Amino acid sequence: MIEQDIAIKSMPKVELHRHLEGCVRIPTIIRTALRHNIKLPTFYEDELSKIAKLSGPMGSLAEVLGMFEIAQSVFVSYGAVEEITRQALEDAHKKENIRLLELRYSPDFMLKGKDLDWQKTLEVILATTRSFQKKYPIFTGVIIIASRSYGMDSVLKTIDFAVQNKSIIAGFDFADDEINYPASLYAGAVKKLHEAGIPLTVHSGEDGKFSQVLDVIKFLNPRRIGHGVKAIEDPSGKTLELIKENGITIESNPYSNYLTRAVERLEDHPLKKFIAADLSVSIGADDPEILDTDLNKEYGLAVDKIGLSMADLAYTNKCALKASFLPPDIKQEAAKWFDQ
Ligand SMILES: [Zn+2]
Repeated sequence: MIEQDIAIKSMPKVELHRHLEGCVRIPTIIRTALRHNIKLPTFYEDELSKIAKLSGPMGSLAEVLGMFEIAQSVFVSYGAVEEITRQALEDAHKKENIRLLELRYSPDFMLKGKDLDWQKTLEVILATTRSFQKKYPIFTGVIIIASRSYGMDSVLKTIDFAVQNKSIIAGFDFADDEINYPASLYAGAVKKLHEAGIPLTVHSGEDGKFSQVLDVIKFLNPRRIGHGVKAIEDPSGKTLELIKENGITIESNPYSNYLTRAVERLEDHPLKKFIAADLSVSIGADDPEILDTDLNKEYGLAVDKIGLSMADLAYTNKCALKASFLPPDIKQEAAKWFDQ
């Protein structure tokens, strides 16, 4: 077991599905809150960990949203954004040996109620990733997220923001409530993204029905799908076929799916079936701080609970590298770390 842990930890990894808002360390939340006079339920690290981190399958969605609100509250200055981004990179690279990292965030969620400019915040995040890349063997990219539950105006504003920044961002994502905000709503809006050549991923099939995944493929034509858990429930198998035919990669996040009850038990997670169906699949940690996970833990669980082999893990990294939204020359450079 220890040997397996060591082997997993030392593997170079690709992470495609990680939210910056889900990467805020507890001590950073407390320190930033004290500095900026932000209210927290408690200023004790142990107690805040219990409130701001999910330790088992969620009781309610409100409970998890409350955790995100605590993390969100400290994106309060450009200095805080810089510190949070740098720590997210440090954790990813030093603890998990991540060599290619796509970090994503929702500007409207992250900066709601804050006195920070969207453009300047993006530039701070990118400057932080660039300076980190100079010091360590890692490549990074930033994905801009539209928060569906914030309504159409917010989605359109976020799309325009992404298009204006198409030369410096890696891609675009739709996240949060899919059930009340179905893919068909955005069929027109995504045209701007496609025309601008911005690669698209969509959170889909995390809850609800497999037909949502079909709708996402039909209306939004993404290159990747976040979670996609429900795709396995199509009795005809057509959803998996379409994912494969369209060359779509599933960004799976097993422990996240267990904590949000997308699967009852990790043993039920469809990751192994996705691989058996010859789909392109990656493994991500989603929100490492809030969900108390990282890729070392995800890989360990994928082997111990879901039945993946070490070769399967290497396969998911190969898929992730191929499906990354970073430019081909960067991916080629990164591939050197994975070819041994
Ligand atoms: Zn996510």
